[in-house]
Amino acid sequence: MPDLSAETRSLLASLDIPADALAGDMPVRSPVDGREIARVVAATPQVAHEGIAAARAAFLAWRLVPAPRRGELVRLLGEELRAGKEALGRLVSIEVGKSPSEGLGEVQEMIDICDFAVGLSRQLHGLTIMTERPEHRMMETWHPLGVTGVISAFNFPVAVWSWNAALALVCGNSVVWKPSEKTPLTALACAAIFRRAAARFAASGSAVPDGLLVLLNGGREIGEILVDHPDVPLVSATGSTAMGRAVGQRLAARFARAILELGGNNAAIVTPSADLELTLRGVAFAAMGTAGQRCTTLRRLFVHDSIYDGFVARLKSAYESVTVGSPLDEGNLVGPLIDAAAMERMQQALDAARALGGVVTGGNREKAEDFPDAFYARPALVEMAEQAGPVVDETFAPILYVMKYTDLDQAIAAQNAVPQGLSSAVFTTDLRQAERFLSAAGSDCGIANVNIGTSGAEIGGAFGGEKETGGGRESGSDAWKGYMRRATNTINYGSTLPLAQGVSFDI
Ligand code: NAD
Repeated sequence: MPDLSAETRSLLASLDIPADALAGDMPVRSPVDGREIARVVAATPQVAHEGIAAARAAFLAWRLVPAPRRGELVRLLGEELRAGKEALGRLVSIEVGKSPSEGLGEVQEMIDICDFAVGLSRQLHGLTIMTERPEHRMMETWHPLGVTGVISAFNFPVAVWSWNAALALVCGNSVVWKPSEKTPLTALACAAIFRRAAARFAASGSAVPDGLLVLLNGGREIGEILVDHPDVPLVSATGSTAMGRAVGQRLAARFARAILELGGNNAAIVTPSADLELTLRGVAFAAMGTAGQRCTTLRRLFVHDSIYDGFVARLKSAYESVTVGSPLDEGNLVGPLIDAAAMERMQQALDAARALGGVVTGGNREKAEDFPDAFYARPALVEMAEQAGPVVDETFAPILYVMKYTDLDQAIAAQNAVPQGLSSAVFTTDLRQAERFLSAAGSDCGIANVNIGTSGAEIGGAFGGEKETGGGRESGSDAWKGYMRRATNTINYGSTLPLAQGVSFDI
């Protein structure tokens, strides 16, 4: 096993991370071998308050920069991400335990959202609306909103920041980022890459106000400062439903805006007409990829009883044979869980499933001799007679609960009968079944796919889910509207004052 601590130091140096940021006492461990790889400086509450004040001042200047110029900064950020892709991707793999292709893929997603945001910077347009009054014009304009707070989860440590930051910046906002306490290094790397883009922007003659991006490494208590601060009109928070419940209520108490991207309990339905080769690959990647630690990971599978035995037997052999081990070794498809607590929650969920009669394949800890401080598990496939107990919760680990169904509407109802509403899929070649699944009578999730697994979204679409997933939307489509405030303007270019709805008020 290579010395990850030495490799991390050299990656951090190549990304220009200032040495003083690494002279703190907040330990960072790699889930690859469980060893400590660095110590970073955590923000104090005072630093957090100062950072928010700087971001507020930056916002007041940045909102006046024309949006296409703001887009130029994000274009440069995309260029710097391209230049730093290898190093940042590797750091993601080390800090979170993703495979090299997933680490690089996460950085590619950042580049993609920057490209998207650059185009968007010339398209932040409103409407002209017909008015009922003569010689009047009515229109809608979109304005920068203010400091955008970003709280992110460990499992997409950099992409989630970029989804928010690229849009917030072109929309004229400043950004204060509180990353997961488990991933401060990749956050430091992003801030360094942003500084490079800002220096190039400044060299082209446009100032970047100090405080346009403020990084606050630390735990929940630092996130709470962002959530409660009156100068932060929007917080985009990604993480567990428990976190979102706390954050959402506090934001609502002060009428601040929330974009909540919370837990998922994603399902797929395999119909009798499904292309089973494609389905097997789609299910395997969605359920076992990233060791089940994606918000969109496939956690529940409803298989039609006419194909159940043959399909589930093939799936089981994929579970038995999939390679588990260091994600830095390209031969392995399933890497580690993030920490010991994640392994414990996985085992508890499996015990609960067994107690309800669930039949478990896999799920055991592996590689404990090679990596006593890291937590590798063979993905678990659990056949359940019905959807109960742990099946209705999100356990952030590679567990796939498999159930039989006979009628599509019954399977759709079961799919929807959980508190979460993030991602869903149907595997079918029957047009009627596909369209039914996508219709108002179909999936109730924010993402509904046909012949694709539940994970692996692209940045062009709006990303997010319903119910306990929080209702927020990020990334593509018109998600930018969440980062701006809308004003409706009515202009009277005549010389009389007709009132709306025919109201008269003659003085
Ligand atoms: P987590 O909820 O433990 O932590 C997420 C972030 O919230 C961290 O930065 C944490 O410090 C912060 N936080 C926690 N409590 C807080 C509070 N009361 N106030 C302010 N900040 C607080 O989540 P995690 O373990 O890092 O990530 C896994 C979870 O995230 C899963 O449930 C997964 O489904 C979800 N997730 C959702 C999406 C999505 O887009 N829907 C994307 C990625 C992850």
